[in-house]
Amino acid sequence: MDSIQLKAMAKINLGLDVIRKREDGYHEVRMIMQTVNVYDRIELRKRSDSQIRLTTNLHYLPVNENNLAYKAAKQILDEFPFLGGVDIQLQKHIPVAAGMAGGSSDAASVLHGMNQMFALNLSLEELMARGVRIGADVPYCLMGGTALAEGIGEKLTPLVSAPSCYVLLAKPPYNISTKFVYENLHADQLKPCQHPDIDGQIEAILRNDLYGMAQRMGNVLETVTIPACPVIARIQTMMRESGALNAMMSGSGPTVFGLYDDEKKAKDAYWNLKGKNVADQVILTKMTDAAYEMDVL
Ligand code: ATP
Repeated sequence: MDSIQLKAMAKINLGLDVIRKREDGYHEVRMIMQTVNVYDRIELRKRSDSQIRLTTNLHYLPVNENNLAYKAAKQILDEFPFLGGVDIQLQKHIPVAAGMAGGSSDAASVLHGMNQMFALNLSLEELMARGVRIGADVPYCLMGGTALAEGIGEKLTPLVSAPSCYVLLAKPPYNISTKFVYENLHADQLKPCQHPDIDGQIEAILRNDLYGMAQRMGNVLETVTIPACPVIARIQTMMRESGALNAMMSGSGPTVFGLYDDEKKAKDAYWNLKGKNVADQVILTKMTDAAYEMDVL
């Protein structure tokens, strides 16, 4: 196999709680992760020399070690130097710096793709152990589907698939750095009512109860991101008024998603949001189980 094509899938958080700030500065989280059918396209191709060359359709993204896809390739080639090099073609569609783990998912796909293309036979656990060195969300992106993520996001418990529904995504025209949000979160000052009911949400998912799951959506990071980017709250209101079961910010934002049980309401809400000047990307999609799919050329 000389090349491989992959879809690097985005995620949303159906629930996001921060338990505390650890002594090492990291935050201990409890999050319900969910893959959605929005993806970057990645093509990997073997090189006869030992270089890594990354090209992308987004001119402002780094094409060196600061790109998580590059970092993933380098990690594999540092460990297995006899493999040669790799060309990475990265076509971005997942909103960038938006709380949808786009970079982490690209890294996960490169790890998975290189494992396949070079027939390294690394297990999922072995890939995850390498992935967590790149970012806390990378192990989840390797796994995909519906999962509880604890620790700094790397301790994963797979769940049954979340109840099926339409997912409307709207990314306001601002980039929010995850670092800024966590630095300005004071987890110890949150009131008990500000913490989402993650356990209740898991129970609703296990019962396949879409309404119970939607009712328990909550994200403590909104306490930091919404004051910095108030349009998030406006989009949430618009989504709820257009029939969303609930609407919430994903990750550290600023992407907002609404869940709909009705296709017509979801499509009407999509066109309504597109017509408003609140988001530069509006996407209507569904949840999915697959973390990546590949087409071997
Ligand atoms: P998360 O949900 O994990 O917090 P995010 O959606 O907030 O992720 P990303 O889109 O993954 O953020 O990227 C954030 C920053 O990382 C960008 O500003 C970009 O410069 C850098 N970056 C590095 N590699 C990538 C990549 N492959 N795709 C997108 N951004 C990347």
